[in-house]
Amino acid sequence: MTRDGAHRPAVWFTTARAHRFDYRDSLLGRFEKMLGAFPLGESVAEEEVVPVKIHFGSRGAIQTIRPPFVALMVAALKSLGAHPFVTDSVRMLGHEYLEIANRAGYNQSALGAPVLLADGIFGNDSIEVDAGEPVGTQCIASAIHDAPSMVVMSHVKGHIQAGFGGAIKHLAMGGVCSHPRCGGWEKGRGRAHFTLGTIPNWKGAPPCTLCGTCERHCPMAAITIARRAWSVSDDCWRCGRCISACPAQALHTPKDDGLFQRALAAQAAAVMRTFGPGKVVFANFLLEMQPECDCMDICDVPMVQNVGVLMGKDPVAVDAASLALVAKAPLLKGSRADALGAYEGRDPFGAVHLKSSWGQVERAAELGLGSLEYELLEFPFAAR
Ligand code: SF4
Ligand code: SF4
Repeated sequence: MTRDGAHRPAVWFTTARAHRFDYRDSLLGRFEKMLGAFPLGESVAEEEVVPVKIHFGSRGAIQTIRPPFVALMVAALKSLGAHPFVTDSVRMLGHEYLEIANRAGYNQSALGAPVLLADGIFGNDSIEVDAGEPVGTQCIASAIHDAPSMVVMSHVKGHIQAGFGGAIKHLAMGGVCSHPRCGGWEKGRGRAHFTLGTIPNWKGAPPCTLCGTCERHCPMAAITIARRAWSVSDDCWRCGRCISACPAQALHTPKDDGLFQRALAAQAAAVMRTFGPGKVVFANFLLEMQPECDCMDICDVPMVQNVGVLMGKDPVAVDAASLALVAKAPLLKGSRADALGAYEGRDPFGAVHLKSSWGQVERAAELGLGSLEYELLEFPFAAR
């Protein structure tokens, strides 16, 4: 029971630690067994068309969830008589993003289900909803908005503005359309990134060295560098990638991390309101946890030792359990964790990004999205 007398939601956990040369004791084998025991059928009904929401990664970000885990989820949903499809919303030009997905092994032949863009090839197919303060009207990707149930498989890692990314950030940033047909960037996911600003602001040359890095990273080809001047067009969808990528800190937008975390919680709640109670299942993968988001065009070495996989129906509880397990996991030498020195805190991703990862989780709990208290059910080793 929680402090106010409610039942604590269950969070299932299986460890990445293997003890025997036996598939059943591998993480994949244990995940398969956990999926077989998890009450997936309480959330997903026969004949439902179900998005399996993942992140496809980027050209250089390849530490996303490995395809065999996604294939097992697809098989589990099919065994219930459901019709799963694997999906993400557009994060760069849609046709390029599908190529990246295919190269990462997210395709029908590997996964056993179609791979679709939730907001269409142009990243604009979406339905308006009221997400409340501080983001207002937001456009949810149609294939998520219209679905009766959903599975969200999240790769846990760090994030420059949120501290860490898990289920809540995945719902928020992945469920909201990047480039809504009606209403422009303010009704899309860029609204959370640019809550205080309207467009990346160039500080001039110097400090800009006219290196062109931002131009190469812009998913919309919205940046032009010509005659020693920098400009950005109205095609900018406010992803913030250029600002993060600039090696000279020559681009800027006013930021408020607390406001960003409130915006994430509001967007996540708006996505969840498009489903009935208990109709969304979450699986957090605490593996290859690099310091940055999989949207960026690189992957760094992981900061924290592999932990395992968590599953549950409460995104707040699943993220709270993820943060608690990350806090106990050994930091990895040679990674950005080295910058933490004699760190003795409990939030290594927050520590490298100079903010608390808990902000989004606590704000989501305040919005009624779930419980910070939970019951951790450790799934037993299959081979013992
Ligand atoms: S990445 Fe930064 S330094 Fe390079 S061109 Fe863009 S604004 Fe200038
Ligand atoms: S924020 Fe920067 S990288 Fe993103 S779309 Fe706008 S100009 Fe391009």
